[in-house]
Amino acid sequence: MSEPCERSRLAPSPTGALHLGNARTFLINWAMARQSGWSLSLRIEDIDHPRVKPETIDLTREDLQWLGLDWDEEAPLQSTELAPCRAALQTLGSDGRIFRCDLTRNEVQRAQSAPHDRDSGLRFEPHLRPPEAGRAIEHPQEDVTWRMLVTDQLIHVEDRFAGPSSWSLASTCGDFPVWTKAGPSYQLAVAVDDARQGITQVVRGDDLLPSAARQQALQDALGLRRPTWWHLPLVRGRDGRRLAKRHGDTRLAHFRDIGATPERVIGLLAWWSGVPMDARVDISAAEFLECFDITRVPPQDITLSTEDLAWLAG
Ligand code: GLU
Repeated sequence: MSEPCERSRLAPSPTGALHLGNARTFLINWAMARQSGWSLSLRIEDIDHPRVKPETIDLTREDLQWLGLDWDEEAPLQSTELAPCRAALQTLGSDGRIFRCDLTRNEVQRAQSAPHDRDSGLRFEPHLRPPEAGRAIEHPQEDVTWRMLVTDQLIHVEDRFAGPSSWSLASTCGDFPVWTKAGPSYQLAVAVDDARQGITQVVRGDDLLPSAARQQALQDALGLRRPTWWHLPLVRGRDGRRLAKRHGDTRLAHFRDIGATPERVIGLLAWWSGVPMDARVDISAAEFLECFDITRVPPQDITLSTEDLAWLAG
């Protein structure tokens, strides 16, 4: 049999245990891969240094398996294979695409000309660029920050779920970091790893849609193939904010501890994912696979309700 040429990945960051929102995205990603014959890998993204909690690495795998998800292979922990990111930094340096930045976060923040959009993080104002920005750098040092020199050109992101969107990196994030003294940034690591691992289908939460524009800028600068994007709506608390500790314990591990079965949890995730059902019912991952249809997933965010919590509490 020939190798499948479409490939996707589950890419959890071990910064905490999986919550219902992550679980829904991973369940959908898994179902799309299994329905379409994409190969699927698990890639634990452990380079988000200060926030990584190593003890959640095993827990993440256990949570996914408990739900009934599987994958065809596991990529090495992202932090253990940095050579391709180093090579990418060299390429960006010799092509004059990056510049060294010694400013602190506070200094960048103080220079803000307008309130920044929380999802894009801090905007790096163009007047902060050093005069040598754009010059080729043959051997970028690895213990400092390097920023990508962004252009005014609009970046068009074609997303199979969220539709088309256009982004101006210059007016949203500005020159964004590709490297810090802790190593490659999330943006660089994802662009490099997706390309070298042959990932052609990226399914993830739409909080990362602004990141897709940055990743495309990197893919283009590095001559890497662009994957097909599927950015899905998020699960939010009743205050409209992204699921987090403030909404109480929404970790899968918590629901497991209070006696919920995987079928009960998937029943809720299915209810949220456009699976035809008149009420929440227990269903297994295999049953979800039978009846899930990406074209029926509601385009709006989901709000975790008291009825949902009561369902999980049995
Ligand atoms: N590891 C990232 C996260 O958990 C997702 C990265 C990606 O899918 O590109 O937020």
